[in-house]
Amino acid sequence: MLVDIHLHSNFSFDSNEKHENYLSSARAAGVKVIGFSEHYDYDALIDGAADVTVADVPEYFSAIQRLKTQFSTPEILCGIEFGYRDLAVEHYKKLVDCYNFDYVINSVHTLPGRGDCIHDAFFEGKTLKESYSDYFKAVLESIRADFDYQIVGHIGYVSRYRSCDGSRIFYADYADILDEILTEIIKRDKCLEINTSIGKSTGKFLPDCDIIERYLQLGGEKLSFGSDAHRAEDYLRRSNLLTEYLKSVGVNRLFYYKNRQPVAYKI
Ligand SMILES: [Zn+2]
Ligand SMILES: [Zn+2]
Repeated sequence: MLVDIHLHSNFSFDSNEKHENYLSSARAAGVKVIGFSEHYDYDALIDGAADVTVADVPEYFSAIQRLKTQFSTPEILCGIEFGYRDLAVEHYKKLVDCYNFDYVINSVHTLPGRGDCIHDAFFEGKTLKESYSDYFKAVLESIRADFDYQIVGHIGYVSRYRSCDGSRIFYADYADILDEILTEIIKRDKCLEINTSIGKSTGKFLPDCDIIERYLQLGGEKLSFGSDAHRAEDYLRRSNLLTEYLKSVGVNRLFYYKNRQPVAYKI
């Protein structure tokens, strides 16, 4: 059984789900460990986005603490998802110094002055390929950022809600920048997340299989699983498909993080 460590609850601005409902689903599935990763999109605040609020971290920590005393299983991990932006790095550094997150997911959601890269406005005035390349450059920059994160979130997010011709990301079309990204992840001993919230895209996962296989070929070992659920019904989304796929390419273990240390588990 996979350990789902990318989950959003009502501590994230775009979810109404209660932590408890995920825990019930985990117990029903016989899962021993679960991890929450609420949104903390300081990047959107920098841009003045009116519809985004960041998670109330002290409240979130106390809520998790209360749940831990209430329930002994599953074991709950307290993670966070930071929306990358160069100008947000100092803020994120302070947060990770103050709060003992089990892990930080470093995700690119927005580019300066261009808003969320899943929105149509992001693509205006540029070709699809140019827009995707801009996104990948931001991902590379985010990986090189100097703050304590463990996991690189949903590479390929820019394509999540694109369904037009040519919108699926193939490794071969972006090989140079993807090689730089994957090499940088490996060099820095970070973890590549396989996110199974694929939205409208026609691939299997974010990132898709050909990119995961290139990561393995380059020597990448650390992989994590996240459904990116915003509702309990999406918890463990596509995890059976992912398990089957991973076994077919010889991957027998994944990782989660506790106290910012990697923990390997057999799949
Ligand atoms: Zn995200
Ligand atoms: Zn997320």
